[in-house]
Amino acid sequence: MKFAIIGGTGVYDVASKTRVEQVTTPYGDVEVDIQNIEGKDIIFLARHGKQHSTPPHMINFKANMWALKELGVKFVYATAAVGSCNSNFKPGDIVVFNDFLDFTKVRPITFYDGNEGVIHTSMADPYCQNLRKLFITAAKEEGVKIAGEGIYVCTEGPRFETSAEIRMFQKMGGDVVGMTNVPEVVLAKELEMCYAAVGIITNWCTGLGEELDKEEILSAVERNKAALTNLFIKIFVTNNLSQEQCHCKGALMKL
Ligand SMILES: [Zn+2]
Repeated sequence: MKFAIIGGTGVYDVASKTRVEQVTTPYGDVEVDIQNIEGKDIIFLARHGKQHSTPPHMINFKANMWALKELGVKFVYATAAVGSCNSNFKPGDIVVFNDFLDFTKVRPITFYDGNEGVIHTSMADPYCQNLRKLFITAAKEEGVKIAGEGIYVCTEGPRFETSAEIRMFQKMGGDVVGMTNVPEVVLAKELEMCYAAVGIITNWCTGLGEELDKEEILSAVERNKAALTNLFIKIFVTNNLSQEQCHCKGALMKL
C-alpha cells in the first residue's frame, strides 16, 4: 500500500534520500520522487512537471493518475493554488475542498471510454471523507490554521476568469477557483483511490480585492507548502489507513 502527495504551483520540500522513478503509462511517462519514511513509501508528484513548465490545460492528468495507480497508491493528498471568491477566505489561507463545480471544457475527463462497458462514477463524495477528517484533525494538533472547507470551481485556463464569471461562481456557491483539480479528483475516484485536496489561496479572484504581484503569490504558497507537506506525511506515517472508512472504493457503477 502506497501514499502520494501531488504538489501544484511551487516546489515541495523533500528531504534527502529520495529516489527518482520513471513510470511508463499508456498515456505517457511520468517522473516521480519516492521517499521511504518510517517504512512507508511516499510518492511525490509535481502536477505541472518538475520545472513547473506545463500549463494547466496541458497537464497530462491521465498519465499522472495512472502512474500513481501503477505504483500501488491508494491514498493521495494534493495541494493546489487557488483564488478566493469568498470574503472569509483570504490570500495566504488554507481551505479544504469539500465539493467541486466543473467549468473545464476540452480536457480528457475519464479513463472509461466504453471499452469496458459504460461506467459511471459516483461524485456524491468526490473528496475522501476520511482523508479530509484526518487532515483537519492533524492540522489542529500541529497548530496549522485552516480557514474552513469550501467548494472548488475548476476553470479551463490558462486565462484567468472574467469579473462576470466570478460573480456567477459566487452565486452558484463557489468559494475558491483554480484550473487543475478537475479532472484530477475524478480520475482518482475512477481508479478507486482515496483523494483529498487542500487549497492555498494566493489571490482574490478577478474583480475582488486588489491584485497581488507574483512575488506575493509565490511567498503565500511557500509559507504553507512545507507545513502542508509535513502534515500529509505525518498522517500517512502515523495512521493505519484503510479504505473501509469511506466510499471511495466501489464508487464505480457499471451499466
Ligand atoms: Zn476514501
